[in-house]
Amino acid sequence: MPSEHTDAAADGLLLSARGLHKSFGENHVLRGVDLDIAPGTVHALIGPSGSGKTTVLRSLNGLETPDAGSLRIGDLAIDFARPPGRRERAALHRASAMVFQQHHLFPHLTVLGNVTIGPVRVQGRDRDEATADALALLDRVGLREKADAYPSSLSGGQQQRVGIVRALALAPSMLLFDEPTSSLDPELVGEVLAVMTELAADGWTMAVVTHELGFAREVADEVSFFDEGVVVERGAPAQLFGDPRHERTKRFLQRLQ
Ligand code: ADP
Repeated sequence: MPSEHTDAAADGLLLSARGLHKSFGENHVLRGVDLDIAPGTVHALIGPSGSGKTTVLRSLNGLETPDAGSLRIGDLAIDFARPPGRRERAALHRASAMVFQQHHLFPHLTVLGNVTIGPVRVQGRDRDEATADALALLDRVGLREKADAYPSSLSGGQQQRVGIVRALALAPSMLLFDEPTSSLDPELVGEVLAVMTELAADGWTMAVVTHELGFAREVADEVSFFDEGVVVERGAPAQLFGDPRHERTKRFLQRLQ
């Protein structure tokens, strides 16, 4: 189940980003991004390659630092007008947990070792408790019997499910997914999307960068369409996919048909 830190602020949001800007050298990749996510909802970030989706997601987790704008997750508020210090970045990193395109599992650790290393080494949790929680989470995604296996013996879909469990084990207030199925063989995509659908049903707050528009349509509560570093259009999936308002959204969706 989601951690208890999902309390909404007075505005009813768990996450609120305003005016995020980010340049890499001359490349101005975020040009004023706003994002609002209510607790217990799934927000899909869609749009063409290079439009800034991953950079936004990484900014939410403290892996990139925007040049301007502000961000609030739960009771943590950061104004990027002043570069955040180490403590602020660490707090931001703890507030959410990221599931990457590539699972980045440690090859020399078992599945259980991969899941418990964060809670035990980084969060200082009791090893027995962390192990019990990890086994319950592995059970939740159908991988309890793989606890003592090494990542190399798992399929890509199983490895990505372990990646999801590793994020859950950190008890974050929200989950961030960066194209979690795009490196998988097509036949393995379904099992990962199924786990994500279950997490959504469990009430996890999720931000998902995805090319899986079917998933976005069925599971997301809200969708933001990105193009050239801005959110061009945001809405409920039925509206955004069924009756897009902006030409750029229409063109993007038409190209994919
Ligand atoms: P998307 O997720 O929509 O495909 P990204 O956020 O990954 O877009 O990338 C947006 C732009 O930022 C791209 O032009 C990409 O090359 C550039 N970019 C992303 N990360 C870096 C980085 N660490 N250094 C330099 N350029 C980057």
